[in-house]
Amino acid sequence: MIEFRDVQKYYGDYHALRGITAEIRAGEFFSLLGPSGCGKTTLLRTIAGFEGISSGVVLIDGKEMADVPANKRPTNMVFQSYAIFPHLTVAENVGFGLRRDPRTAAEKAQAVAEALEMVGLKGYGARAAHALSGGQRQRVALARALILKPKVLLLDEPLSALDKKMREQMQVELIRLQRQVGITFVLVTHDQEEALVMSDRIAVMFEGQIAQLADPETLYRRPNSRQVAEFIGVMNFLPASITAELAEGFQLQVAGLGAVEITAEQAPGAVTGGAVAVGFRPETLTILYEGQTASDRETSGTIEEVVYYGDMTYYDVKLDGVDSPVRISMRNVFGRPVLDIGTRTRVAWSAGALVLFR
Ligand code: ATP
Repeated sequence: MIEFRDVQKYYGDYHALRGITAEIRAGEFFSLLGPSGCGKTTLLRTIAGFEGISSGVVLIDGKEMADVPANKRPTNMVFQSYAIFPHLTVAENVGFGLRRDPRTAAEKAQAVAEALEMVGLKGYGARAAHALSGGQRQRVALARALILKPKVLLLDEPLSALDKKMREQMQVELIRLQRQVGITFVLVTHDQEEALVMSDRIAVMFEGQIAQLADPETLYRRPNSRQVAEFIGVMNFLPASITAELAEGFQLQVAGLGAVEITAEQAPGAVTGGAVAVGFRPETLTILYEGQTASDRETSGTIEEVVYYGDMTYYDVKLDGVDSPVRISMRNVFGRPVLDIGTRTRVAWSAGALVLFR
C-alpha cells in the first residue's frame, strides 16, 4: 500500500530521514516506533503529503506521490490534539469533511450515524463537542477521519493525551476498529508497549533510519541490535566470547552461565567475533524454589534487590562470577513467598532464550 524508496529528508542542514526503504502492506496495522526526534512524525507526514522529501520516492497504492498534494492523497490523519471544533456538535464535527460531498443531507446523516456507531458513540450526535471527555473526543476525531473512507489512516500519537486506563481501552478499540474497517493504519508512537500491543508490524527508528522492521514477537525475542533490545522492554546483557563458529550457530562462553551453543537465528544482528554479549529477557530466567528443578540449564546467585508489583516481583540477582546483577521477573504464584535481599538462590535459564549481540 505504501512504499518508501531511499527517502531522504533535510531540514536545512539537519538530516532528518536518512535513506528510508520499506513497505507497508495493505490492511495492516503498522507502527513507527522510536525515541523523540528520531524522525517518525516526519516520515508519517511524507505519507500524508504535509512534508516534501529531499530525494527518494514515496508510492501509495503503486502511484508516485511527488506531485500529489495532501488533499488529493488517499490518506487521512488523526492528530494527537484531536483538532475538534468545540462550538460544533459531535455530528457536525464528524460530518465536517462531507461539506462539499454531493450526497443528500439524509445520506450524509446516515454516514455520520454509521461512523459514530463504529467508534462507539452511537446516539452522541447532538451532543456539544466541548462536553466530551478526552477519550470521547479522540473517538470523534477517528469518526471524522473514517467517514472519508481513506485507504490509509495516519495516526500521530493519537492516545498520548489520555490517562493510562483510557489509553489501554482505546488501544483495544482501535485494533477492533482496524479489523472491522480493514484499511491500513499507520501509527506513530514512542510507547513501545503500545506498539507491541497494537501492531501487525513495527519499524523501530533511531536517528532518521529504520533499525529493524518486524512483527512484535520477532522484535521482542530477536532484536537485531542492543539499541533495539533496550528500547523494547528490558534486556539483560552478559559479556561473552565466541569459542567456536559452528555450521549453524555459535559456541559461546558466557559470564555467569558458562559454555553454551546457540543457533544462527539467535544472532539476528551482524556478529563478526571480537567482544560480544548475550542478551535475555527477565522472564526467561526463573528463580528455583526448594524441590524445583531446571528444565534446561541451571546457575546460581544472590538476590541484591527486590521490587514487588503485586502480580509480579522483580529480582536483581548477582549471578556467581558476574559483577553486575541481572533482572529476573517472577509471577507471584499464590502461596509462594517473596524472597528477601541477600538470599542465595538457584536460577534456571534456557539456551534458546539467549540472543547474541556484537
Ligand atoms: P517526537 O516524538 O518528539 O515528535 P519524532 O520522532 O516524531 O519525535 P520528528 O518530529 O520527525 O521526530 O523530527 C525529527 C527531527 O527533525 C527532530 O530533530 C526535529 O527537531 C527536526 N524537525 C522536525 N520538523 C522540523 C522543521 N520543520 N524544521 C527543522 N527541523 C525539524
